[in-house]
Amino acid sequence: MPAGKIVFYTGIMDIADNPDGIAAIMGHEVAHALADHGAQRMSLGIVQQAGGMITAEVSKNQEEHKRERIIMAYGIGTTVGGMLPFSRKHESEADKIGLELMTIAGYKPEEVPKLWARMKAQSKGKQPEFLSTHPVEDRRIANLKEWIPLAKALAGEIKTITYIN
Ligand SMILES: [Zn+2]
Repeated sequence: MPAGKIVFYTGIMDIADNPDGIAAIMGHEVAHALADHGAQRMSLGIVQQAGGMITAEVSKNQEEHKRERIIMAYGIGTTVGGMLPFSRKHESEADKIGLELMTIAGYKPEEVPKLWARMKAQSKGKQPEFLSTHPVEDRRIANLKEWIPLAKALAGEIKTITYIN
């Protein structure tokens, strides 16, 4: 969000379950930002809602091209007109980078595939907003498991570099 804020829906806290789970979600979302996936699918639907309200209010009498500039000016991104379709490529990138980030930060990467397994279990019931833009496939969980050693190795290297300096 503008000003570098990250917003969590309280609904996802049950699935996050523990600090490592929260770090996993946060890492994933920060990764989207770092990888420049744009204002993205607005997996935080509240941003889209807020954006929609702001632009509806501001641009009631504005032409379409002006409306677009207003959206930009609010830093809401370019996708407020409608959700971007789920991008498997972006999701996979954010999964990998997010896993690395939380591992470097000292959280347990083993929790990440567990988190997604909890998401998957949840997806059969009442869905938090996050899940509507983050479908959980078995491949996703398998990839995350596979990347854990790489994330740990990377975190170790970074620690070493820090100590040398
Ligand atoms: Zn994502």
